[in-house]
Amino acid sequence: MTDFKLISDDQWRERLTPQEFHVLREAGTEPPHVGEYTNTTTEGVYSCRACGEELFRSTEKFESHCGWPSFFSPLAGDKIIEKVDLSLGMRRVEVLCANCGSHMGHVFEGEGYDTPTDLRYCINSISLTLEEKPVS
Ligand SMILES: [Zn+2]
Repeated sequence: MTDFKLISDDQWRERLTPQEFHVLREAGTEPPHVGEYTNTTTEGVYSCRACGEELFRSTEKFESHCGWPSFFSPLAGDKIIEKVDLSLGMRRVEVLCANCGSHMGHVFEGEGYDTPTDLRYCINSISLTLEEKPVS
């Protein structure tokens, strides 16, 4: 089994497109409203595009109108790592894949969305791969 935490930048560059590498491994952000999953309502499971670990489900995806796919909860709490990010002069909480450490996006709280958690996991489409399947 591959230990994704030991993969070097050069190996990641071979595995990922330049755009994927920039977001997943350099904590980039794709522009709003262009990501392939922004408005997707297909039933299925979203996996980390870097390592394939299942991270989010369509059942927790909601329409936030923020321009990126938004989830009110990950598939399970231990699937992701949340880390304080002070870049850009803001205090944000970065969301990383717990399996490989790749950048997913950020999580925001207390914005008043009508969801069970009032959390918004704002995730880059390019960090995810959607597999269509029934989610119970
Ligand atoms: Zn991963």
